Amino acid sequence: MSTYIIQGAKDDYEVVIGLEIHAQVISNSKLFSGASAEFGAEPNHNVSLVDAAMPGMLPTINAECIRQAVRTGLAIEAQINKYSVFDRKNYFYADLPQGYQISQFKYPIVGEGVVTLDLGEGRSKAVGIERIHLEQDAGKSMHDQHPTKTFVDLNRCGVALMEIVSKPDMTSPEEAGAYVTKIRTILRYIGSCDGNMEQGSMRADVNVSVRRAGEPLGTRCELKNINSVRFVRQSVEVEARRQVAILEDGGVIDQETRLFDPVKGETRSMRSKEEAHDYRYFPCPDLLPVIFDDAFIEAARATLPELPDVKKARLVEELGISDYNASVLVAEKESANFFEAMLAATVKATGKDAKVMASKVANWVLGDLFGALNKASKGIADSPVSAEQGAELLALIDDGTISGRIAKDVFEEMFNRGKGAGAIVDEKGLKQVSDTGEIERIIDEVIAANPGQLEQYRAGKDKLIGFFVGQVMQKTGGKANPGVVNGLLKPKLDG
Ligand code: ADP
Ligand code: MG
Repeated sequence: MSTYIIQGAKDDYEVVIGLEIHAQVISNSKLFSGASAEFGAEPNHNVSLVDAAMPGMLPTINAECIRQAVRTGLAIEAQINKYSVFDRKNYFYADLPQGYQISQFKYPIVGEGVVTLDLGEGRSKAVGIERIHLEQDAGKSMHDQHPTKTFVDLNRCGVALMEIVSKPDMTSPEEAGAYVTKIRTILRYIGSCDGNMEQGSMRADVNVSVRRAGEPLGTRCELKNINSVRFVRQSVEVEARRQVAILEDGGVIDQETRLFDPVKGETRSMRSKEEAHDYRYFPCPDLLPVIFDDAFIEAARATLPELPDVKKARLVEELGISDYNASVLVAEKESANFFEAMLAATVKATGKDAKVMASKVANWVLGDLFGALNKASKGIADSPVSAEQGAELLALIDDGTISGRIAKDVFEEMFNRGKGAGAIVDEKGLKQVSDTGEIERIIDEVIAANPGQLEQYRAGKDKLIGFFVGQVMQKTGGKANPGVVNGLLKPKLDG
């Protein structure tokens, strides 16, 4: 039985979730026309006669969109269908001038695959993928531009979407959230979608049902267009609670499409199954089936980078990084790239083995750097400290030029002023003092200046050694090498 407890439930219920993710394909032009697919242009500037559905216009398949769908399928270890068909899905909408959407129904380009969720503390779960099909996006109705009119922007009309359909394999809000996160990570790694949920280039329809222990799957409701990972989690929670309340009241669940309202924390009915459209799918007579060969698939495979799961395993197994640190580093491509560039530069600067330095670099990136970036509300792509500069700093700690304590101050300066570590250490005279002669002289001064404390120490108050260490550090502005100070101080105090 599931470990997720649905709030307010008297019996033992399981929530079941399946997701349909719409991901806008990264391509220069649209799925069936040469118009630009770029986001953010002036309304109706990226619209060809095909997108506007002028009579007699014919769609032409954009091979790049096919290639991106194939790459995505390969990244989730899916069956790639060398034969697929585009169908017309008929419905009327003001921002869909064709009166139908060209999509795929019976013969999608990608078949069954699998995605592994990272659930923290070493827990993982495999979630099945049903299929990925390609389809056109619709335009955008703008209801807020005029008091009595709705405007239509067709820039998005005809842009390629991948619809990634999961199996109903998830059983908690946490898993649903982890699934969306993982799909987004994979799409961003391979560059088939930018995954920007705030801009709508990736959005999820969340299907939710509940069932009592051991029962068959319950009736599902579909929550439309959820646009953040947090809302995916919240919507599942709210909807599962609603369904359980109905069942415990002796009611039945109507299969329907619902809208999640994050402000009110509730879902509302949009349309029921009875009102649902009959789309009258049929093969688009303007397009031939899509057929390609193994060479096309292998060429697409050759363009894939190291995928996040493989990278994580390598970080843990070959570099000895903790499971948690490796998960965080690989979750965003930019973080992983930064880490790897910094590790390479650190190895070069210190002459040490990657395995020896890897955990130090990981700790520094996830602790010092991420901490400072969070505080400054910056992403790693805008880090004022480069991977090479980070490596220079670690190398200065490694060869004893500065202590770990001083390094924190140096890093703050680097972060705020964009200057290199070496330059700051020189400029501020922060080099660690390891010269035994100089430290010995300071120790003698400190002991001479504190006869009372010395007497108490010698009378058995051992703890006072901390006082003397503190005095020496203060006199050297924190620059004395603590190891050297400790080694020299005790024999002198003991007399
Ligand atoms: P439709 O085209 O009507 O949306 P699909 O067969 O494409 O139907 O399924 C849509 C999604 O619903 C899939 O992601 C699937 O995993 C999910 N799903 C199917 N049955 C259930 C269920 N009982 N509970 C939760 N999710 C489900
Ligand atoms: Mg659906």
